[in-house]
Amino acid sequence: MSRPAIFLDRDGVLVKEVFYPETGEWEGPLRPEDVRLADGAAAALRTFSSNGYATVLISNQGGYAKGKTTLRSLWLAHERFLELLAAEDARLDRVFYSYSHPQGIVPHFSGPSLDRKPGPYNVLIAAAQLDLDLSRSWMIGDRQTDLACAEAIGVRAVLVESSRHGQVMCRPSIIDAVRSICDNHSVRLAEVQS
Ligand SMILES: [Mg+2]
Repeated sequence: MSRPAIFLDRDGVLVKEVFYPETGEWEGPLRPEDVRLADGAAAALRTFSSNGYATVLISNQGGYAKGKTTLRSLWLAHERFLELLAAEDARLDRVFYSYSHPQGIVPHFSGPSLDRKPGPYNVLIAAAQLDLDLSRSWMIGDRQTDLACAEAIGVRAVLVESSRHGQVMCRPSIIDAVRSICDNHSVRLAEVQS
């Protein structure tokens, strides 16, 4: 039987963004040693998994395309991310990255692409692979691109941090996002305590 999913953005939701003086921007970690889990990230994944949700990461990683890091470094950062989750007994059912960027400078990774959010391409791939019920699924993100991706296919969304957008719930952190989704479905919240 189809099961619901939680589609999760990574940077700013499950992983803390990093300030890089060389770019003057807060962004996703460009190196493995910069990866830090967001507060409550592992507990959130454990809670979703134990309540029957598939957990699917859908993340844009344009740092290589923009010339900020190597593809190898982005992959090692991904592996570090999974290690940190595993150390807290948390896991994801699927992981999808888009490494392209529309304004990139690296050949083969620059320009329009199918798999980059806000396009729902990877959500639909995940739904096919895991037999997901999108009508009972949620997206958790921190940017308009995450919301637009959810809206494109009618998946409900929770925006963490302070932005506001239509009927989307806005919550200050992944911990509060978990509470909101679980409250909606009357499921167990014992694991998610701030
Ligand atoms: Mg993000």
